[in-house]
Amino acid sequence: MSHVIIVGGGIIGVATAYFLGRSGHQVVLLEREKTLGELTTAASMQAVRAQFSDPANIAFMQESLSFYEQFEERLDLPGHDIGFHQQGYLFVTSEETEVELLRERVALQHRHGLTDVEFLAGRELRERFPYLAGEALAGTFRARDGWLSAHEALLGFRQAARRYDVTFQLRTMVERVLRQGDRIIGVATSAGNLHADHVVLTAGPFTAGLAQTADVTLPLDPMRRHRLVIGEHALIPGWAPMTIDHDTGAHWRPEGPGAALAWAEPEEPSPPAMHISPDPAFPFRVLEGVYRLNPFWLDVAETLPRSQVFLDAGQYTVSPDHNPLIGPVPEVEGLWVSSGFSGHGVMATPAAARLLAELIDGAQSLSTNPFALDRPTLSTGGGESMLI
Ligand SMILES: Cc1cc2nc3c(=O)[nH]c(=O)nc-3n(C[C@H](O)[C@H](O)[C@H](O)COP(=O)(O)OP(=O)(O)OC[C@H]3O[C@@H](n4cnc5c(N)ncnc54)[C@H](O)[C@@H]3O)c2cc1C
Repeated sequence: MSHVIIVGGGIIGVATAYFLGRSGHQVVLLEREKTLGELTTAASMQAVRAQFSDPANIAFMQESLSFYEQFEERLDLPGHDIGFHQQGYLFVTSEETEVELLRERVALQHRHGLTDVEFLAGRELRERFPYLAGEALAGTFRARDGWLSAHEALLGFRQAARRYDVTFQLRTMVERVLRQGDRIIGVATSAGNLHADHVVLTAGPFTAGLAQTADVTLPLDPMRRHRLVIGEHALIPGWAPMTIDHDTGAHWRPEGPGAALAWAEPEEPSPPAMHISPDPAFPFRVLEGVYRLNPFWLDVAETLPRSQVFLDAGQYTVSPDHNPLIGPVPEVEGLWVSSGFSGHGVMATPAAARLLAELIDGAQSLSTNPFALDRPTLSTGGGESMLI
């Protein structure tokens, strides 16, 4: 079996280390920080769903969610609780023109095996979710979607990986990928050079920059995204699903006695960074955004003490078709990528890590990989339409 270096200890890198270790590889994961999972993984809304519009994503996320549902058994970690709240995901529209589109999307999801998505309209929708505004015309709901603790999931993968030949080397900054002709031979790090048969880049927003050190250009852009957490408020319905305004993208979900809110607003790509300054005006915008179809948010906003408001931001690593890049770099032997999750990396983790390990092992054919780095939609567009 081969020697593999993984660059980056977010949730993707750690889960990939587990799957590679389990199939017998000798794995060293290098992480620049003193702890794992401190960058994008820590900024996430931690929500997981199988309701997608691209058939490849529907299958991929179903695989991931099944894994999360059986996390303890799959990793043989009895009692390891990843806090999986399957309270559902609800997309809601108030636009006549979107109602048919949502109905068609549910039909597509059913055709692709995701048969438990419900299309709800009019009174039925508002009776099931009475906090919605009268303007809410239709929605799609899947009860098994939800959210979990990305931190606990990462810790579970790390614990399970330690049964194998997997080393987690912290405080080690990878400065360069070492290339000799058409092949990768290792990496240059703050602790010296390390050699390997394969190098896997799972460095989140820093992935494209690292690939560039081996003269490889990846179509990945880091984009700032905010998350607002409300510590506690009595008017927030704790039983509610993740609720997304399908027309604008503003969304919220319960979080303990409070809530988490986000909105992937249009923004120019930004350079990769370890600390992202949030826009202090974001809380006002997102509260106004969610209020449109969830009127109780106006009452929350008017009575919200500042001490209950927590704002932060991270970076989505976005690809042109909003699907991840998972697989070998075609022109350079031994260089692999698992990144560009376009805001869906936590939900994709189990399937993405399994896929990359199987591609390295040859257990999965390169030609049937929907997330290959040379797929046409990276230059022609298309792919996943639901970027939230
Ligand atoms: C506001 C926000 C909300 C989100 N909500 C969701 C959601 O609800 N559901 C979902 O599925 N996804 C969500 N995401 C996206 C999700 O967080 C990411 O897709 C996921 O965390 C990516 O994980 P990763 O391991 O690829 O990257 P990261 O977590 O960024 O990990 C990369 C690691 O690489 C390390 N690193 C970088 N450069 C080097 C180097 N040169 N040498 C060594 N180490 C290096 C970093 O320190 C870091 O630990 C959200 C993201 C944001 C910002």
